[in-house]
Amino acid sequence: MPNLNNIPENFQAMYKFSEAYAKRTGTFFCADLSVTAVVIEGLAKHKDNYGAPLCPCRHYDDKAKEVANTYWNCPCVPMRERRECHCMLFLPNDSEFAGNHQDLDMGVLLGLI
Ligand code: SF4
Repeated sequence: MPNLNNIPENFQAMYKFSEAYAKRTGTFFCADLSVTAVVIEGLAKHKDNYGAPLCPCRHYDDKAKEVANTYWNCPCVPMRERRECHCMLFLPNDSEFAGNHQDLDMGVLLGLI
């Protein structure tokens, strides 16, 4: 485990959120962890820049406005209501893309971004 003091605060926050939320929802991370790493990094950057983890897998004309709308702040409404994560951060265990883990290794993630 690398020294967490050197890792940006919001990346740590989204990493911890992702583990907790996967366990709470019974979902799994992608077998290809580079997908997971890039999505977590995207969420953290939006939290850095806009104060909320706006979904990083969509195009927005006005990100500040989307954050205020809250619909696409992670976990977004489709995920909360129907367990649909189009970013493939949270996958049901019957997804062909799902791995078998709900825990993440920070060192591995950092090596993939
Ligand atoms: Fe989060 Fe929803 Fe984007 Fe998945 S699709 S990363 S749950 S905001």
